[in-house]
This record gives sequence, structure tokens and C-alpha cells, in this order.
Amino acid sequence: MMRESTVFGPIFSRRLGSSLGINLLPEKGKICNFDCVYCECGWNKDGLLDTRLPSADDVRKALAAKLEACREAGTPIDSITFSGDGEPTLNPDFPEIIDLTLELRDLYYPSAKVSVLSNATCAGKPEVFEALLKVDNPILKLDAPTDEQVALVNRPVGHYHVADVVEALSRFKGQFVLQTMFLRGPGWESAQWVDGWMEIVRKLRPREVMVYTIDRETPMKGLGKYTVEEMRALVQPLIDEGITIQIKG
Ligand code: SF4
Repeated sequence: MMRESTVFGPIFSRRLGSSLGINLLPEKGKICNFDCVYCECGWNKDGLLDTRLPSADDVRKALAAKLEACREAGTPIDSITFSGDGEPTLNPDFPEIIDLTLELRDLYYPSAKVSVLSNATCAGKPEVFEALLKVDNPILKLDAPTDEQVALVNRPVGHYHVADVVEALSRFKGQFVLQTMFLRGPGWESAQWVDGWMEIVRKLRPREVMVYTIDRETPMKGLGKYTVEEMRALVQPLIDEGITIQIKG
């Protein structure tokens, strides 16, 4: 189970280079309105130890101190990524935090890219939508094309409709990255709904699609991976239609 401080890293990743992480969720807990079977932070019910969300002021102080220290030490930072223990847009200060992060990025590491990993459930809220449009890479999740299938993989907490999320994503006019997990569960697998998912991708035309599979321990046991070759075969029709797809095994 990941338990990250508000600002963590930088860690080196092949995809993002030297990447600083920002966790807008509690330091010792998890808060999400999904409870995905594959969540690297574990089940929601096991993440209730700490519920204090960092405020905009907390983030400003922690991020400024880290960027200052990294600059003094000559540590490169290629990307600043919101990817904490839960869903970052649930933090009520999210829009203000995006603004201050972009300001600090411009001040300390102007060439670093700011990315947000989100499950897209709040993308329809005007203030969240505006904030996501400002960052370099809004990376938004859609794992399955119907409410029943999403219930199997993402286990939403409370009100959720794929149609609402698709409507919210369509307002980005393609200026986002769509992220989709391919996996095998008990009695179901992503391949079963790939046609419906591809129809949504065609409608949304995201500037990039990232498909990936599980690669760490998951809270639900017995889940199966897809190989890169299997995923490529599934998304080949979209590749042939000119959609940019990154496949991560
Ligand atoms: S949306 Fe992300 S943080 Fe939330 S349960 Fe799913 S994988 Fe975990």
C-alpha cells in the first residue's frame, strides 16, 4: 500500500524522467470515489487511518521548499505529477493548487511538465474542468464502457454514470490523455468490452491513449495481466485509424 507525503520524490521513471509527485490526499490514508480492484493504494476501507487533506497553503509550502532544495542541489525535474493515495480532484482546494503549482513550476523549473492522474469522475465540475485544462497532461481514466462493467472494475462509491463522464470528457475537445487498464478478473476481462470502449475513444478523439495492465500487488487477488502483444492486437483498429496509443506492459 502506498502512503505518500504531500510532495514526494523526485523518482526516476522511464516515461516521465525525473518526476516529482504531489499527493493531495491524506498522508496516511486513502480517499477515492472509486475502489478499483487493482488499486495500488489498497481498498478504501483499509485507508481510513488519516482523513486530513492537505490545504492549498500546505501544498504551496511543501512544494516551494522541495523545488528550492532540488534547484540548489542541481537535481533535474522533468515532470510534476499529481498521483497520490486516491483521487486528487476530491481535494476542495484542487483548482487553487493547480494554479499555485503552475506558478511555482514557472518560477523554479519552467520546462517541467505538470500532469494530473484522475479518474475523471469530477471532470464535469466547471472549476475542476478549468483546472485540468490548464495542465500539460490531464490523464483521465476510463476503464470500461458501461455502468455494469465499471462496477466490476472500478466499484464506484455513490452516483456514477459512464454517460456523464463521456459527456464531461467530450468538452476537452481531445485535449487530454485517456488512460485505460486492461485486466482479467473473476468471470470477466477487458477484451469483452473492447468494442464498446473503442466506440467511446472514436467519439472523444483524445490526443493520446495510454493502455496498461497490472504490474504490482492488487487488493483483489487472482487478477490476470495482458501482454503488450495482446493489448496491441485489441487496440489495433484504433492504431489503424490514426489514434496515438501508448501500450505499457
Ligand atoms: S481511481 Fe485510482 S486511486 Fe481510486 S481506487 Fe481507482 S486506482 Fe485507486
